[in-house]
Amino acid sequence: MYDLIVIGGGPAGTSAAITAARSGARVLLLERGRFPRHKVCGEFVSAESLDLLAALLDSQYAALQHDAIRIPRARLYLDGRVLETAVDPPAASIARLDLDAALWHSAKSAGVEARHQVTVQRIVRGPGAAPFRILTGGGEFETRALVSASGRWSNLSAKPAKIGGNREKWVGLKAHFAEPSPEMSVDLYFFEGGYCGVQPVDINGENSNHQLPDRRLANHGRVNACAMVRPEVGSTLAEVFARHPALDERSRKWQPLSDPVSTSPLIFRDPQPERDGILMAGDAAGFIDPFVGDGISLALRSGSLAGQCLMPFLVGEISLHDAAHQYRQTYERRLAPVFRASSRIRRMLVLPRVLRTPLLFLLENTPAITRYVVSKTR
Ligand SMILES: Cc1cc2nc3c(=O)[nH]c(=O)nc-3n(C[C@H](O)[C@H](O)[C@H](O)COP(=O)(O)OP(=O)(O)OC[C@H]3O[C@@H](n4cnc5c(N)ncnc54)[C@H](O)[C@@H]3O)c2cc1C
Repeated sequence: MYDLIVIGGGPAGTSAAITAARSGARVLLLERGRFPRHKVCGEFVSAESLDLLAALLDSQYAALQHDAIRIPRARLYLDGRVLETAVDPPAASIARLDLDAALWHSAKSAGVEARHQVTVQRIVRGPGAAPFRILTGGGEFETRALVSASGRWSNLSAKPAKIGGNREKWVGLKAHFAEPSPEMSVDLYFFEGGYCGVQPVDINGENSNHQLPDRRLANHGRVNACAMVRPEVGSTLAEVFARHPALDERSRKWQPLSDPVSTSPLIFRDPQPERDGILMAGDAAGFIDPFVGDGISLALRSGSLAGQCLMPFLVGEISLHDAAHQYRQTYERRLAPVFRASSRIRRMLVLPRVLRTPLLFLLENTPAITRYVVSKTR
C-alpha cells in the first residue's frame, strides 16, 4: 500500500512525487516510457518556475537550471512584420532530453520508488474511502491517493468530446539543428496553418551533453525548431519551414543534429484539476497553447501543488475529499487564469487579416502594450 501513486514521469509527475516524498510520503512513480528521450516541445522554460525547478532538482543536476541559456527576448514573425518584445525576467532554454531525465533521477534521490516502462492500464476506485487500485502491465498496486500526470493525451484520458476539448486537429513536430551563431531569442514564425518556434538550446557545445558532433561546427550553436501545424501543412519539418520565407531562408543554414519527433493530437481545453478524487496535474489537467511557453511551468507548479495539498490527508488531518477540494480551488486561483489569457491571444492571432493588421501595428508601435499582453500570459 503506497501513500501516493503518481502516473507519468514528466515534469508534472516528478514534481508531485518529489514534493510528497520529501514530506515523508511513500510514493510510487509509474512511467510507460524511459529516459532520456527527445520530446516534442519548444524547450522554453518560463522564469516563473525556475526557482521551483531548482528546488526540485537534486544538487547533482543544479547546473542544468543554473547554467541554462537565458532567453531575454521574443520575436514574432507575422504578416511580414517582426514584433519584438522583452522576455523579462528571461526564460531558460533546457532540452527535454536533459530536463526530464534529471527530474526522474531527482525523484529517485528524493526516495521515490520510480519504475519506468510500466503502463497504467486502469484505475479502479473502491467504494467510500477505500484505496485506489492501479492496474498495470507489470502488476497491481494499491494507494491511498492518486495523481494523474499522464500528459496531454494517453490511454487514461477521457474522450475530447467528454472533456470539452476542441476538435481541431494539430500536429507537433520538433528537431535540433546546428546553426552558425544563433541569437539569444525565441523566434516564432506564424503562417497559414500553424507556427514554428526556434530558439538556441546550447552554444558552442558548452553543455557537455550536447557537444556538436563535427569540429567544422565549432562556431555553431544548437537550436530547437518546434512546430505546431495543421496536418495539411505537411508531415516533415522541411515542409513546415517552406511555409514561411524568413524561416525557409534561415533553415537553409542548418544541419540536423537529432532525428525529428512528432506528436498528435493536440487538444486544447479548459483545465479540470480533479476527477473523482484523482488530482490531475500538468497537461493531464489541461493543455495550454504551446506558444505562450508555459506548459512546463504549469506542470511543475501544479505537480508540486498536488503533492502539497495531499500531505494533510496523508498525515490524517483532513479527508481526501477536502484535500482534492483544496487543490482544485488553489489551481483555479493561481494557474487557471493563464489558460484564459492564452486563449484570448490565440483568438487574436487567428483573427481575419483585415482586423489583425491594425492590431499588430498597434503592438509594434507601443511596446508597453505588447509587454502588457505578454505579461498576461505569465
Ligand atoms: C508543439 C509543442 C511545443 C511546446 N513547447 C513548449 C515550450 O516551449 N515551453 C513549455 O513550457 N511547454 C511547451 N509545450 C508543452 C509541454 O511540453 C507540456 O506542457 C509538458 O510536457 C507537460 O508536462 P506533463 O508532465 O504534464 O506531461 P508529459 O511531459 O507529457 O509527461 C507525461 C508522461 O506520462 C507518461 N504516461 C502517459 N500515459 C501513461 C500511462 N498510462 N502509464 C504510465 N505513464 C504514462 C508519458 O509517457 C509521459 O512521459 C509544448 C507542447 C507542444 C505539443
